[in-house]
Amino acid sequence: MIGETTARLRPKGLPNQASRRRSLRPTAGGAGRLRQVRRRATAVTGMRLRAASRIDWRAVTHSADRPANPIDAEFTAYPLRALADAALQRATELGAEHADFRAERIRGQQIGLSDGSLETLYDTDDLGLAVRVVVDGTWGFASAVDLTTQAAVRAAADAVAVARVAAAINTERIDLAPEAAHGEVSWTSAYEVDPFSVGLADKIALLAGWSSGLLAHDAVDHVDASLLQVRECKFYSDGATTATQQRVRLHPSVTAVAVEAGGRFETMRTLAPPVGRGYEFLAETVRGASEGGMGSRAEGGSWDFAAELGELPELLAAKLAAPAVRAGRYDLVIDPSNLWLTIHESIGHATELDRALGYEAAYAGTSFATPDQLGRLQYGSPLMHVTGDRTAEHGLATIGYDDEGVAAQCWDLITNGVLTGYQLDRRMAQTRGFAASNGCAFADSPGHMPIQRMANVSLQPASGGPSTADLIAGVEDGIYVLGDKSWSIDMQRYNFQFTGQRFFAISGGRLAGQLRDVAYQATTTDFWNSMEAVGGPQTYVLGGAFNCGKGQPSQVAPVSHGCPAVLMRGIRILNTADEAGE
Ligand SMILES: [Zn+2]
Repeated sequence: MIGETTARLRPKGLPNQASRRRSLRPTAGGAGRLRQVRRRATAVTGMRLRAASRIDWRAVTHSADRPANPIDAEFTAYPLRALADAALQRATELGAEHADFRAERIRGQQIGLSDGSLETLYDTDDLGLAVRVVVDGTWGFASAVDLTTQAAVRAAADAVAVARVAAAINTERIDLAPEAAHGEVSWTSAYEVDPFSVGLADKIALLAGWSSGLLAHDAVDHVDASLLQVRECKFYSDGATTATQQRVRLHPSVTAVAVEAGGRFETMRTLAPPVGRGYEFLAETVRGASEGGMGSRAEGGSWDFAAELGELPELLAAKLAAPAVRAGRYDLVIDPSNLWLTIHESIGHATELDRALGYEAAYAGTSFATPDQLGRLQYGSPLMHVTGDRTAEHGLATIGYDDEGVAAQCWDLITNGVLTGYQLDRRMAQTRGFAASNGCAFADSPGHMPIQRMANVSLQPASGGPSTADLIAGVEDGIYVLGDKSWSIDMQRYNFQFTGQRFFAISGGRLAGQLRDVAYQATTTDFWNSMEAVGGPQTYVLGGAFNCGKGQPSQVAPVSHGCPAVLMRGIRILNTADEAGE
């Protein structure tokens, strides 16, 4: 599930911080918000290092074509190995048949400006350790916020005690699929500038500059600008694999609002996706027109915000003046900036094995794509090739090793339109007889137990395939869809409805102005089987979200979805104003 970040309307000059703060948070059951975490009043200080526990951080492995980013020195200064050794030893002494240890530090910062003025600023710093065990076939888990040997040992004992209590109500033995021992490994994500190394004033000034540029335009009445940043450090050990990892992500977003005299208003948000990159993504660049003029603007590690913000006022004015769509069936060309969310909801969640088996039913239910259909279900057209992927550079779900020590990998979920795989963690893999996990265990904090979470689930482009303009040229009477907005899907991930940021009429193979009040509606298999053409790699963009919600207690996870532009034939279009009875 992805929570929708809404832009609320507020008259100029009437600050309302409480409501604005809420408005910056996603609305879906609170699942999508940045976790409210314990805030430590002081930085990490006073650690005592034990020489024997020091790890040689210079020996970390990384992609051969880029230098390794340094891992947060305040995090690595903790005696992580010693804490893990103490916890694992204690768990074993107390009878655990499996034990693993995590320590994490997750820094977050959200900056929000309304009409150029700072309205939201908060920093989070979540630090702690966790011990997970299996005792007599039952899970146990405990965590602590102090990274000391005493706390690690106590957490191990508490986790074992939890398992012994829970055993009385456990109806199914927990067994974990085997995973190779990877030894001592380290991994950092690909980024150039750690956003936490950039001064706050510089970040605010950048957002304020974007805002004032938009507000100077007659077509724009209000502007919301925000920047979310996360630096996540994870240390994992189960005795066979000890992994130290760090990744960085950020999400810039700008929404312009136009208000008519009668009170009707329209909004338009930038298409820039959240990315597993650093502050370089926001760097000023000068480049020519991007592919299709409206699609991808990501080149060379940054997004062309100057170009996107430059065209936003006129696009917004045209949206406000646009005619309402006439409901009916249309051919659609869907841009990656919209399609990623449809992939997320109708493929990503539907191919989680825990959901398909009914172990997970929170947040829009189970899945129609049940394991008895593996290798048989015609999910979509033969052009459809979807992968689960933890290795995509700059992907939000990309990592070196998951929270069960499973190495990152890429595998097929849908091959030639047929369901061929699932997302797995070690327990789910073992439950259905898969040989091994494909690395989908993730916990969003040291205070939570890992659950099965989504890999980057991506639709592959067609080698040598068409451009967006080529796809549009193949449509006589249709609609070109860009940007995500709201969505809904039923409890089996089957019937769905999606809106978007921008809809352009296509007439005779050419764009013919914007439409408003558009939503497309379909069942998952009808929709994907209507896919007649898949764009080439030049149309491919990695979209995604910070805030996929799952589980009880709720956890959030970042995830990317790459896809090309696609051509869908004969999709049902709703007029959302008519549907709402307006
Ligand atoms: Zn989700």
